[in-house]
Amino acid sequence: MNILPVLTIPNPLLKEISLPVEHITEETKNLIEGISKTLYAHKYCVGIAAVQVGVLQRIVVIDASQSLKEHRSSGLLIMINPVITYSSGKISSREGCLSAPDFIGTVVRRKKIEVDYLDLNGKKQQLKTDGFEAIVVQHEIDHLDGKVFLDRVTSLKTDVFRRVT
Ligand SMILES: [Zn+2]
Repeated sequence: MNILPVLTIPNPLLKEISLPVEHITEETKNLIEGISKTLYAHKYCVGIAAVQVGVLQRIVVIDASQSLKEHRSSGLLIMINPVITYSSGKISSREGCLSAPDFIGTVVRRKKIEVDYLDLNGKKQQLKTDGFEAIVVQHEIDHLDGKVFLDRVTSLKTDVFRRVT
């Protein structure tokens, strides 16, 4: 699969809850390949959830190393059916999203997380991460639950800014 178009708000699909992947098929792998290509096609893009390309499945593709700033990163992460099993602390940062390209917003999230997920081979994996990468994982999992970062800001008036292009 090649680069895919990314849905933007207010597309109603972005508010839907994605369903768990029951079987990892060739179709799943093609989709993930398409999402990965889409991620790397957008400069500084660090994560895309399947719903953002119109597929309501619990799949996220993340690469925190694509950020402009230097962060600790696990590189490319393909997470199927990710579940946060532990979280602690708080961290506030400016977030953006391909699905809300005109905005950035200040969002408070958990600083440290542990996530269980399946990899491309259906093998159970666990990631322990913190800081920027943990923020990205939480942002992407939010998409699977029908949320964008704008739903997380404390105030739409003071915490959301128009992106200057
Ligand atoms: Zn997003």
